[in-house]
Amino acid sequence: NVAVVLFTRDLRVHDNPALSASVRAAEHVVPLFVHDPALPAADNRRQFLRGCLADLASSLRSLGGDLAVLRGDPVREAVRVARAVGAEGIAMAADVSDYARGREARLAAACASERLAFRTFPGVTVVAPGSLRPGGGSHYKVFTPYYRAWQAASWRDVLGAPRRIALPGNMPKSWFESGASAEVAGESAARKRLTAWLSHLQGYSETHDDLAADRTSRLSPYLHFGCLSPRELAARVHDRPGAEPFLRQLCWRDFYHQVLFAFPELRRRAYRPGAEDRWRDEPDALEAWKSAHTGVPIVDAGMRQLLAEGWMHNRARLITASYLTKHLGLDWRAGADHFYDLLLDGDVANNYGNWQWVAGTGNDTKPYRRFNPLRQASRFDPSGDYVRRYVPELASVPGKAVHAPWTLRKPPSNYPEPLTLDAR
Ligand code: FAD
Repeated sequence: NVAVVLFTRDLRVHDNPALSASVRAAEHVVPLFVHDPALPAADNRRQFLRGCLADLASSLRSLGGDLAVLRGDPVREAVRVARAVGAEGIAMAADVSDYARGREARLAAACASERLAFRTFPGVTVVAPGSLRPGGGSHYKVFTPYYRAWQAASWRDVLGAPRRIALPGNMPKSWFESGASAEVAGESAARKRLTAWLSHLQGYSETHDDLAADRTSRLSPYLHFGCLSPRELAARVHDRPGAEPFLRQLCWRDFYHQVLFAFPELRRRAYRPGAEDRWRDEPDALEAWKSAHTGVPIVDAGMRQLLAEGWMHNRARLITASYLTKHLGLDWRAGADHFYDLLLDGDVANNYGNWQWVAGTGNDTKPYRRFNPLRQASRFDPSGDYVRRYVPELASVPGKAVHAPWTLRKPPSNYPEPLTLDAR
């Protein structure tokens, strides 16, 4: 018998429940990825995805398998492939966004009408969204009780890669041959990065907010594309010294996934009722923020890191998002959409969940909290090195003076005055 495994954002062979279960249950397996034109992505994300697919294909080949890569509607293509190879069913990882759940529902219906079995598996989070619920509720609204339940949940057992994958004789030909390099993207790179980074785990609680040190794991793009199993990551770190603050951050990822699962409008609507309609409409200010020319160095440095790398340090995400919503008074959705377009790790649950937290419209948040950019700068970039690294106009301003160039006797002529330093 034959099974089709539809990969989406679980692009790995280790600890992949949908793949392992299919290999166990069926004699022959067809690993399939379908590029979905309904999910447009920025160039950097497309490039990263191509690298992930190249690496996945190579890992599958080393196990005797291969990866079919097609383009089109994943539901139609998966069913078409299943019919062509005479499969009995299709398996995939369950996901939480509105789009992903719609896709799952369509695939379930199409499989039912074709008499194909359809099964979803966990794998996108450490603990499956919806599996932990407070007494009587649909989801946890507050982080700390969720974190306690999460710590007590059983996620320490991890699956290895399948030993061998046998393809059917009529494996579909990919129309798309990926030539992209898997050096930076993909599961092999993710596993290397994790192994190399583990030596910094012990110092995580002291260094994770230090902007210039850049000592966080930078695993988020790999987690987003599922090159690394979040459950395996949690299991590999949990008994090491210094793991607790790191696991707590990883748990925020699960927390927002279970919020999105219960509140699919997270991307467009304030989670907290009544928290809307107080935003200004100032396109020039929005443009200055997006193009990293607000005149507030710590904000511009974060925004330039985003433009240059498709990634931003978490502390800078907090500062730049707070500046947009609390200082410029602009709508969190405009900022979140901009992040989502450019971030390699851009993720509906984490991006919109965190934006709502900063904007004060989300759950477990303090609506009137705001981050003072100058105080944040002196705490988390005391040397000014982070700003100098990303804002060349200020590269020759020494020490912490770089955070307030308007106070210099001769401010750099090519760097703007701050839009505002007052919260609104
Ligand atoms: P590490 O510090 O090494 O943490 C390890 C992992 O834990 C991360 O890879 C991530 O998966 C998870 N994590 C850490 N902090 C958070 C958090 N606050 N919320 C949820 N998960 C967390 N993260 C995304 O993955 N995608 C996004 O689109 C995204 N948008 C964000 C937008 C804003 C406004 C803010 C404030 C945060 C956002 N984050 C997002 C969370 C966080 O900034 C990134 O996960 C983190 O910076 C990634 O770097 P890292 O892998 O080095 O993190």
